[in-house]
Amino acid sequence: MKRYGLIGYPLSHSFSQRYFTEKFAKESIEGVVYENYSIAQIDQLKNILEQQHDLCGFNVTIPYKKEVLAFLSSASPVVEEMGACNCVKIENGRLVGHNTDVVGFEQSLLPYLKAHHQRALVLGTGGAAAAVAYVFRQREIPFQYVSRTKSATSLAYDDLDEDLMRNHTLVINTTPLGMSPLVDQYPPIPFQWINEQHHCFDLIYNPAETLFLQKAKATGASIQNGAEMLVIQAEESWRIWNERE
Ligand code: NAP
Repeated sequence: MKRYGLIGYPLSHSFSQRYFTEKFAKESIEGVVYENYSIAQIDQLKNILEQQHDLCGFNVTIPYKKEVLAFLSSASPVVEEMGACNCVKIENGRLVGHNTDVVGFEQSLLPYLKAHHQRALVLGTGGAAAAVAYVFRQREIPFQYVSRTKSATSLAYDDLDEDLMRNHTLVINTTPLGMSPLVDQYPPIPFQWINEQHHCFDLIYNPAETLFLQKAKATGASIQNGAEMLVIQAEESWRIWNERE
């Protein structure tokens, strides 16, 4: 038996276990299971590793994407640079860290990118924002963080004037505002200055159309949610776990 899983807390609404279980059935992949490990402390990962000898790899979600680094024997260059890991491969007892959110975000965004999408606003400054920022740096797309707390590296929401909005035609929501059950919330940006030149991407996938996306769509902007990113990051994890060294 090959065992895979997800660590995080809480895990009640996890997409990954359902996705992998359905994938294994649909693709007749046998002798493999994917389980949730809902752990209240990252230290409990030690017990899982001791007890589950057939564990070959696991995904990592909120709140452990940074804390898991202390358990890794080595990490990919992306993890080294970002300081966040969401996919671990176990090889001869060694834990090797990867970040598949980066690939998920980049691959899902690419089909929507147009020549006039020259600058981006990244709403929020957490773990998902770090993956988005990594991709923009790699692709040399200048971006500005927008945060509830203004700093040397982030604008405040109040700073978003007409000029800034017109010049930043990619708007990426990495905040949890609008995510079920908080479906009546949205990031406080001036939607009146969004137009059909903009592409608005919400990393949230439940609901499929958040208020942020509904308001952006009403202006004529193109929109996308985080569903495809989620599938791509899961498939990238599966590819990494099955890759021969
Ligand atoms: P996080 O670290 O908890 O939060 C992201 C950032 O959002 C925070 O750093 C904060 O930035 C801002 N924020 C939090 N609460 C807010 C509030 N009440 N009002 C305004 N801003 C707020 O979460 P994360 O891990 O980055 O994930 C963020 C979202 O992305 C989640 O909805 C998650 O489900 C989604 N996600 C989707 C995928 C996918 O594959 N589709 C992958 C990863 C994450 P400031 O303090 O700077 O304002």
